[in-house]
Amino acid sequence: MKVVKFGGSSLADAKQFKKVKEIILADDERKYAVVSAPGKGEKNRHKVTDLLLMCHQLASHGLNIEEIFVNIRIIFKSIVADLDLDIDIDSILDEISCNIQMGSSIDYALSRGEYLNARLMATYLGWNFVDSKDLIFFNGELLDDEKTEESIGRILSDLEYSVIPGFYGSNEKGEIQAFSRGGSDVTGSLIANGVRADIYENWTDVSGFLVADPRIVHDAKTIDYVTYKELRELSYMGAPVLHQDAIRPVKKLRIPINIRNTNDPENPGTTIVEDYSDSFAKHDITGIAGRKGFTVITTEKTFMNADLGVFRRIASVFETNEIPIEHIPSSIDSVSVIAESGKIADKLPNIIEEIKIYTDPDEIKVEDKISLIAIVGKGMINRVGISSRIMTAVARAGVNIKMINQGSSELNVIIGVEDRDFEKAIEAIYNEFE
Ligand code: ASP
Repeated sequence: MKVVKFGGSSLADAKQFKKVKEIILADDERKYAVVSAPGKGEKNRHKVTDLLLMCHQLASHGLNIEEIFVNIRIIFKSIVADLDLDIDIDSILDEISCNIQMGSSIDYALSRGEYLNARLMATYLGWNFVDSKDLIFFNGELLDDEKTEESIGRILSDLEYSVIPGFYGSNEKGEIQAFSRGGSDVTGSLIANGVRADIYENWTDVSGFLVADPRIVHDAKTIDYVTYKELRELSYMGAPVLHQDAIRPVKKLRIPINIRNTNDPENPGTTIVEDYSDSFAKHDITGIAGRKGFTVITTEKTFMNADLGVFRRIASVFETNEIPIEHIPSSIDSVSVIAESGKIADKLPNIIEEIKIYTDPDEIKVEDKISLIAIVGKGMINRVGISSRIMTAVARAGVNIKMINQGSSELNVIIGVEDRDFEKAIEAIYNEFE
């Protein structure tokens, strides 16, 4: 049995609704559908959630929301009209607008796009509508995992063929509480876990993850299988397609997440799995991701290796200055700390002074405009020669490698290059392993 989740661009208008219905009905195993609010589309210039946020802001300043809310009315009313749905959309919209105008919570306002879309989709499919406020529970800021899992299992097992709004649940007081933005992915995961689905299909507007950023490698291939861990490494570096909290709920039962494209339903997309048998690891690397804009601060000191606690003292300088450390490559007499340049900003003079006080170094070197590129792949484990192929490919492209870091998990190799060489290095690595 499958849980399907459709993102905002998959449900932006009546044309998209039709595609979604076709997808859902094409497979009888698809028994629970989680929906986002209408996103940007051919007709919609703004996401409904953004419009709702604006309405809430207006209301909280005592201003009339109708000037903005009218756009929300247009979006939902045209879906209802185009699909000829039997639902009194005007009174539902009036009630929501009234509640927001009268000072509803921000989470209530934000969640109404998903609520409305789920009501419409349930009507369109002739399926049950089940409100997420009765399925997903928060305890303060955190999710109440046990209560949520129990409620989903109990309520939905008797209600096959249900549509559930994404993005929110309720708190101890029964009030609506939303996830962070993009949170419908998490709803889909929680439902998949609660109903013990065999697979969680997450339908969006791309056919899964690509091996490299298509703005750099134009014909980049799609990743067929990726493990949860690999994905974590790749999305830490690149643009996430999936909300980062969407992995945790399905991890326990090892439910695969299949990322699919509503506009290209035949494409198998990318499947995220706990582990894949080595026969699937046809390729040596799974993906390449990277980011520009790092600073490397290198402390050099003769006999540093004998100086007890020197790493801790250097690290504490970053901690007290509240700068997260990304990597710490080291050699016998030097240690480099790599952090995001934007986070260091004007704290640099202070950091250098404090490292001097703590370590009495021979020299401190600072280099900025450094890019980090992660080459990720379970296929690298125990396979000889991957690092050397990466180095050779990058060298052949005339790029100087500033730093190399391979975690002992052997899941990835991270290299540091100058920002101006970033694209060239990624292309060279992609072509080597293609
Ligand atoms: N509609 C919400 C947002 O725009 C949640 C979601 O789409 O997942 O963030």
